[in-house]
Amino acid sequence: MTLVVQKYGGTSVGDADRIRAVADHVARTCRQGNQVVVVVSAMGKTTDDLIRLADDVSRTQPPRELDMLLTAGERISMAVMCMALADAGIDAVSFTGSQAGIITDTAHTRAKILEVRGDRLRQALDEGRVPVVAGFQGVSTARDVTTLGRGGSDTTAVALAAALGAEACEIYTDVTGVFSADPRVVPQAQRLRRLSFDEMLDIAASGGRVLALRSVEFARNHHVPLHVRSSFTWEPGTWVVEEEPTMENAVVTAVTHDTSEAKLTVSGVPDHPGLAARLFRALADQSVNVDMIVQNVSQHGTTDISFTVPTTDVPTTLQTARAFGAEIGAKEVVADAGIAKVSLVGAGMRSHPGVSATMFETLAAAGINIEMISTSTIRVTCVVRADAVERAVQALHTAFGLDGA
Ligand code: ASP
Ligand code: MG
Repeated sequence: MTLVVQKYGGTSVGDADRIRAVADHVARTCRQGNQVVVVVSAMGKTTDDLIRLADDVSRTQPPRELDMLLTAGERISMAVMCMALADAGIDAVSFTGSQAGIITDTAHTRAKILEVRGDRLRQALDEGRVPVVAGFQGVSTARDVTTLGRGGSDTTAVALAAALGAEACEIYTDVTGVFSADPRVVPQAQRLRRLSFDEMLDIAASGGRVLALRSVEFARNHHVPLHVRSSFTWEPGTWVVEEEPTMENAVVTAVTHDTSEAKLTVSGVPDHPGLAARLFRALADQSVNVDMIVQNVSQHGTTDISFTVPTTDVPTTLQTARAFGAEIGAKEVVADAGIAKVSLVGAGMRSHPGVSATMFETLAAAGINIEMISTSTIRVTCVVRADAVERAVQALHTAFGLDGA
C-alpha cells in the first residue's frame, strides 16, 4: 500500500463546503488503496484573526501564550475534518502536533522541529484509520506548545512524510501549481510540471509564495517528493523532485518578485577592518534577517553600506544601525521602503553564460534602473523601484521565452 501525506491549506478548508469536498477527496484516495495522513491548516484567515485578537488584548503577548492561542486554529480544522470524514465513511482520528510526536526546540513562534516520533500515527494507520494532524505546531523539549512560524503547516506535512517514509507529500492549495511568474502579474505565465528542489528553494526565497521556504529545505534534505496542486480542481500540479542528471534544464525556469523588503543605507562608514562585522553581528543578535548587501568603493576614507531586510524588521534595524552609526561616527542611516526585488531562477544557468547580461539589457530597454544586484549559481536578483517591478517581471518573462506558444 502506498502512503501519501496530504496537506490542506487555509483556503482548502475555508468553510464547511470546502471541508466536505476535502473529506470526499481523502475518502477517494483511500478507496484507491492508499494510506493517507492528512495535515490541516487553520480555516481561512483564522490565524490572522487570532493574531489581531492578541494585538487588541495585549501589548506584551508572552510568546508561550501567543503560541497556545495560535495553535487553536489548526485544532478546529482537525476536529471538523474528522467529523466530515466520518460522514464520508472514513474512520479518522485527530492529533495535535504534540500528540503526533512533533518535538521542537523552545523558540516560541518560530520553533524548529528536532524530532518526529510518529508512533501514534503509525499505530492509527496500522488500524486502518486516517490520522488528521494539526499543522504548524509541536511540543518543545520543555513540554510547551510551540508554533513553527507562519506557513508552518507545509513543514509539518513534509516532516511527517519524511518520518513515516511516505511516497510523496501532496500540498493542496488554491492555485494549480507553481508558475513561471505570478499569474496576477503575468497572465500568460505557465504552470511548471516539474522543478528541482534547488529551483524551488530559490523561487520560495525570492518571492514565489506557494510553499514555505523551510518546508522545501526539509523536503530536499530528506528526499521527500512534493506535489503542489489545487484542492479546487484536483488536477495534477507541479512536482518538486530531486534533480536528475539527465534532465535538460531550462536556462530560466521562473521570474519571481518580492515587495516585502526595504533597503537600509549606512553612509559615511569609516573604511576600517571590522566595522561591517560589527554592524551585521549587531543585526544578527537582534534576529534581523539581512538579505542582499552592497558596499560601495570607498572615497575619502569612508564607504556606504546598503542592505535589504524584511519590511517588518525595519524598526529594529533602524534602531540597531543608528546606535552603531553613532558609535563609529557614520554620517547617517536611512531606510527606503519603495524597493522591490525581481529574480530569475533556473538550474540551466549553471551551464549557460550571459543570463545576467540579458537580464540587465532587458531592464535597460524597459527604462528600469537597477539599484542592487546579487547572484547565486541558479539565481540572479536585481533591486528596482517597487513601482517598476511588475513591468520588470513582464519584460523578463517575455525576454526569456517563458510566455509560451
Ligand atoms: N495557519 C498558519 C498560518 O496561517 C500555518 C499555515 O497555514 O501553514 O501561518
Ligand atoms: Mg497557509
